[in-house]
Amino acid sequence: MKTFDCIIIGGGILGCALAYELGKQGKKVLLIEKDYPGAGSTGRCIGGIRQQFSTPGSIKIMMKSVEIFKQMNDVDWHQGGYLFLACSEKEKSQYLSIIKTQQECGLSVKYIEKEEALKIVPILNEFDFIGGAYCNTDGQANPFQVLKFYLDGIEKTGGVVLSNTKVVKINVNNNIVDSVITNTGDKFSAPTIINTAGPWAKEVGQLVGLELPIEAERHEALITEPTKKLFEPMIVCYSPSCYFQQFNHTGQIIGCYTPEAPEKGFERSSSSEFLPEFSNRILKLIPALKDLKVVRSWAGWYEITPDGSPIVGETEIKGFWVVAGGCGHGFMFGPAIGKYTAELICEGKSAIPLEEFSINRKFKSKEAMK
Ligand SMILES: Cc1cc2nc3c(=O)[nH]c(=O)nc-3n(C[C@H](O)[C@H](O)[C@H](O)COP(=O)(O)OP(=O)(O)OC[C@H]3O[C@@H](n4cnc5c(N)ncnc54)[C@H](O)[C@@H]3O)c2cc1C
Repeated sequence: MKTFDCIIIGGGILGCALAYELGKQGKKVLLIEKDYPGAGSTGRCIGGIRQQFSTPGSIKIMMKSVEIFKQMNDVDWHQGGYLFLACSEKEKSQYLSIIKTQQECGLSVKYIEKEEALKIVPILNEFDFIGGAYCNTDGQANPFQVLKFYLDGIEKTGGVVLSNTKVVKINVNNNIVDSVITNTGDKFSAPTIINTAGPWAKEVGQLVGLELPIEAERHEALITEPTKKLFEPMIVCYSPSCYFQQFNHTGQIIGCYTPEAPEKGFERSSSSEFLPEFSNRILKLIPALKDLKVVRSWAGWYEITPDGSPIVGETEIKGFWVVAGGCGHGFMFGPAIGKYTAELICEGKSAIPLEEFSINRKFKSKEAMK
């Protein structure tokens, strides 16, 4: 069969979640992945899931994503919360203003003083933080298990996944998308073709002559050996940047930091700075981790848009959609973005509007909780 209702280019979380949701709506779906599902950013992410964002669209999407994660079986879902540390009065007032928006969206989140933070994470060093933004319904899940959940779902709903196959050409007739050509020389047609190529979304956009504002940026991570339960929430600190959590199911500590100067491009080697620098930063926050061994470090890519929010919607080419640009939080967005994009494609509207993520927006504001 060479004709489908929808063709999805890219088998990361966004492509897989969308393929499953479209299949549930009765669409005949083909997902084409140049490598294997999860080979891009999704298989390199650290599994954090939070609802603490600064714009109503992202907050509501993430509240729905959390509901969906909760219902998945066997994905190591754990609701340990997220604690964003405030290290200055300026950071505190920024959190307080964002918390107002989050509470207006119905999110149960609060600012806590240092004493309360130390009760939640007693192992935290009493260094110069003054409190933090805390949401106890944020959580974590295993990205590989979540992908498996979706891949099983795609199979059950009759979708087809073609791995090790790259889309090299997209045919457009009279400004209407028509079909894709793969590196194996096959042609597949569909009235709806969706670019979920994550960090490669710009490259795939260029196949139809679009210059999408999505850039790959290298980010590194590491994971330790397992240890006894030490703390519950993901801990995020901006000065200096450092974020990490303990996997509830394995006891390992996993974390990253954002490089001061963005490292654009597809480099995926580990740098010599990352491991010692991350260790310094995490030990400032939790000195008790000093004897824990690191078992692996790696690099992956954030798919950065100018305002830090994803791009979701149909482009100026009829039938050609973009669902990409997760900006370092695409894993957590996946379930709800998949669900609502499928609604938009099938019904022309979605229960939570996605206009905030439209490709035609001005990209003026900036997501403050990165
Ligand atoms: C170190 C690190 C830590 C992170 N931590 C978190 C976190 O805690 N929480 C969170 O929510 N997010 C996190 N992220 C971000 C998250 O991983 C991404 O935002 C998300 O995985 C993006 O998913 P995606 O489906 O858009 O892209 P991807 O997972 O990259 O999938 C895109 C796929 O498209 C395929 N592809 C590309 N071009 C073609 C083509 N021409 N034909 C066919 N296939 C193609 C690629 O092979 C790839 O598999 C982290 C990222 C990194 C690097």
